Amino acid sequence: MKTEEEITALSATDKFCFLCSKENRCFNQCCANLNQLLTPYDILRLKNALNMNSGDFLKKYCVQYNGQETGLPVVSLKPDYKNELSCPFVSDSGCKVYKDRPASCRLYPLARMASRNRETGKITEYFALIKEEHCKGFERGKEYTPQDWIKEQGAEEYNRINDEMIEIIGIARGIEPAAFEDSIKKIFAMACYDIDMFKKFISEDDFKNNEIAKSLGYKEEIFKDNETALLLFGLEYIKGVLLRIGKA
Ligand code: SF4
Ligand code: SF4
Repeated sequence: MKTEEEITALSATDKFCFLCSKENRCFNQCCANLNQLLTPYDILRLKNALNMNSGDFLKKYCVQYNGQETGLPVVSLKPDYKNELSCPFVSDSGCKVYKDRPASCRLYPLARMASRNRETGKITEYFALIKEEHCKGFERGKEYTPQDWIKEQGAEEYNRINDEMIEIIGIARGIEPAAFEDSIKKIFAMACYDIDMFKKFISEDDFKNNEIAKSLGYKEEIFKDNETALLLFGLEYIKGVLLRIGKA
């Protein structure tokens, strides 16, 4: 169902009322007509929630293509083309992966944009409220500031990790997309989205002599049981790869 939407900018102290509930007559409507980009941390959480290897998760639930802005790979959830482009994880009783749902599902109806100061690395957040005609959550509920909402939805960790992508996209934007050869796109996709493959890649002997890895103080054992740390290392590694291409 395609409905009208109204987008209103919110300051950090502005408040909105919202209650998403099974009792709302719009229940599950927001999980159709899917156009759901996934971030690296979204994928990590979802593949673990489903007890899957990241490669199998990507094959079964995602589509991967080159982003228009940078030419580098992006990943989105594969909708059910025979059923109103519904999310593969929606069921009559709601979201089957609720505890590990992606950041944008957590934040809805809030949209969060962030920018990063190049010198200080400080992140500045901007918020907007998306009011779609079909969504009845605005008719009742508690009052929230954007930060109250982020906290209640458990999105803080998602935002912290997803913000690492801001610098990566900034570096990539400064490079001609033609400079991204297939081998670079493959490494980018592996480090960002296919963490189980990346784990294998960095355990190979060659990687220990990799200049970027050495400059990041790489030690395999640090990441053995900590996939979030491994993902953050992967994103740092990608920054190093892109910076090197930018200088070439
Ligand atoms: S209230 Fe909004 S977010 Fe909740 S189920 Fe309805 S459409 Fe979805
Ligand atoms: S992941 Fe869950 S909340 Fe998000 S679109 Fe799919 S079913 Fe809806």
